Amino acid sequence: MTNGAAKLNAFPVFVRVEGEAVIIVGGGEEALAKARLLGQTSARLTIVADHAEPALAAWIAANGATHVNAPYEPALLEGAVLVFAASGDEALDRQVSNDARRLGIAVNAVDRPELCDFFTPALVNRAPLAVAVGTEGAGPVLAQMVRAKIDRMLPPSLGPLAALGNSLREAADRVLPKGSRRRRFWNDFFTGAPARAMEIGHASEARAAAAELLARNAPASGHIALVGAGPGAEDLLTLRAQRHLMEADVIMYDALVPEAVVAMGRRDAERLPVGKRKGCHSKSQDEINALLVKLGREGKRVVRLKSGDPLVFGRAGEEMQALRDAGISYEVVPGVTAAFAAAADFELPLTLRGVTSSMVFTTGHDLKGSTLPDWAKLAISGATVAVYMGRSVAADVAARLIEAGLSPDTAVAVVENASLADRRLFHGTIADLPALQARDELTGPVMTLIGDAVAGANFARSTPLAAQNRVAAARETEGAER
Ligand code: SAH
Repeated sequence: MTNGAAKLNAFPVFVRVEGEAVIIVGGGEEALAKARLLGQTSARLTIVADHAEPALAAWIAANGATHVNAPYEPALLEGAVLVFAASGDEALDRQVSNDARRLGIAVNAVDRPELCDFFTPALVNRAPLAVAVGTEGAGPVLAQMVRAKIDRMLPPSLGPLAALGNSLREAADRVLPKGSRRRRFWNDFFTGAPARAMEIGHASEARAAAAELLARNAPASGHIALVGAGPGAEDLLTLRAQRHLMEADVIMYDALVPEAVVAMGRRDAERLPVGKRKGCHSKSQDEINALLVKLGREGKRVVRLKSGDPLVFGRAGEEMQALRDAGISYEVVPGVTAAFAAAADFELPLTLRGVTSSMVFTTGHDLKGSTLPDWAKLAISGATVAVYMGRSVAADVAARLIEAGLSPDTAVAVVENASLADRRLFHGTIADLPALQARDELTGPVMTLIGDAVAGANFARSTPLAAQNRVAAARETEGAER
């Protein structure tokens, strides 16, 4: 049989249970699992259990279900819309199932498909929206896997958004003619400004945006999301970033953003690399700003992908200013910045009780003048310093920090390609740091962490930074090989 011809033996429906009696028979784990599921509805839940286990008893007390603390008898089922036989006892479950069927009530018996009139789904609850996953009782593990996937895809705000949608349905039907205009409204409602406001918890703003959308009845305006793509590993992307990628019309990305992250975008989204890789032709910042404004004006949903966090050395400030000036809506989705990824690779505490309680994000490129930058003072007072774009100025950074009074023995950790499979870790002291500049074999992005807290890192997977140490290390390995 081809896949297309496969038939379902169970047809999914949503049963109205609001205020109706639903009965669970059983006092153990199985009953508790069903109680938790039904507890997500507004049914009147009754649990028949003469020996309720403590966890179930506690759940009943906390959730205001009715507990019939008496032996099971068929009369208890009368008037129910659904019955669950969840006693864990085959004979009793069979009796409950038979009794329910005799009374014309649909019944489910845990783990006994032959006693079931219906199966209970794995549930993604965004009330009033629900996604029910069923396998006709074949694979509860599979159902939970699929459930978990869908759960990640749907923002928690979808529930309140759907509820807001319900409250607007009549008005929308009145104002908008049936067909494409109405469809477009709902599409804009669920992906546009109302959805965005709800996602950040602004319910009244969402309502206002929906009202405006309804009144305006014009094509949706564009929206730019400045999204952090994280340090490189695609599973360090946030769920919110992933959702934006899946809804984007255009994905505009910098050179450091990994292909795998870009590939996670909606299949028919337009992909625009805007460069910023040394030596390659790339768009100027002004050109990028202008392009964002243009796309916004065209009504496009744009994801502006930046490596790490967009607000850390990402020139997001200029892009936001341009969008503000042009009156185009935008938002920022944070990402895992390179310093955090490097620290994680090194198992390095960025703050350490009694050692360091502050942290500096800096770039080696502000050292040109004769005055020491403010952050040098912080470094001396014990802050952990993260140096972005610091490879080509490593010697300068070291010299200025030592000049400022930092001990040449202060620990340094360097990570190339943090978070990626081909990452390389190096350790040393400030005195070794100039050696970084000479290491032409480092072609990936490099993060340098400096400070006393760095001494707390795990150096098991790192190699010495400085050349003389490298020779020593080479000799050691040679010795080990013999
Ligand atoms: N917005 C980014 C930083 C952009 S500046 C963020 O928050 O991470 C680019 C610099 O970031 C690089 O020169 C390098 O110093 C650092 N960087 C970015 N990705 C990195 C990675 N995977 N490993 C090490 N450093 C990285």
